[in-house]
Amino acid sequence: MSSTAAIASGRSADRAAARRWRPRVTHPRREVDPGAAERAAADLLTALGLNLVDENLVETPRRMAHALIEMTSGSDFELTTFPNEEGYDELVLVGGVPVQSLCEHHMLPFVGVAHIGYLPGARILGLSKFARMVELHARRPQTQERLTKRIADHLQEELGPHGVGVVIEAEHTCMSLRGARTPGARTTTSALYGRLRDDPRSRAEFLALTRRSP
Ligand SMILES: [Zn+2]
Repeated sequence: MSSTAAIASGRSADRAAARRWRPRVTHPRREVDPGAAERAAADLLTALGLNLVDENLVETPRRMAHALIEMTSGSDFELTTFPNEEGYDELVLVGGVPVQSLCEHHMLPFVGVAHIGYLPGARILGLSKFARMVELHARRPQTQERLTKRIADHLQEELGPHGVGVVIEAEHTCMSLRGARTPGARTTTSALYGRLRDDPRSRAEFLALTRRSP
């Protein structure tokens, strides 16, 4: 390759890099000890009166430990964003994104949907990344309130948008299967920033669209 061609291809590579910004989003690493988790699961099940010698249950502590590790480990991904070259400034809403997480008070699942909207500023987010972002933040024990805010904060940091809104509706099995036993009761949380919080028209449009989503 001639030096001119090398410079030209270097420039186009620079331009391509400037067009696409793909920060790697990583899940905070925890110390996970599968063997200790398995032994602890066996102790818990034994304390609950289960006979782990039973051939149907002999593998249960291992399965239980691995299920919990999986449900509390998010996978890393590249958060692909693009320059907002068209100057699109209307609301972008992705509704009905599945949410599966664990309540940190009971270690029981809460399950529902997230509706995520933003008013684009300098950059826009690849649409498939909304679900990845929800999954990344959902896979850890927490409260629904904190999950909602974490997703909104993350979008705010990465996109510098004019507004961000996240609404999560979920059923908590710690409420529906035990305690108050209220199956079907849904908890709704929201985090609204920028114009989606402060401008009544944008806020009303966002909330109306989230109500229409499944
Ligand atoms: Zn709970």
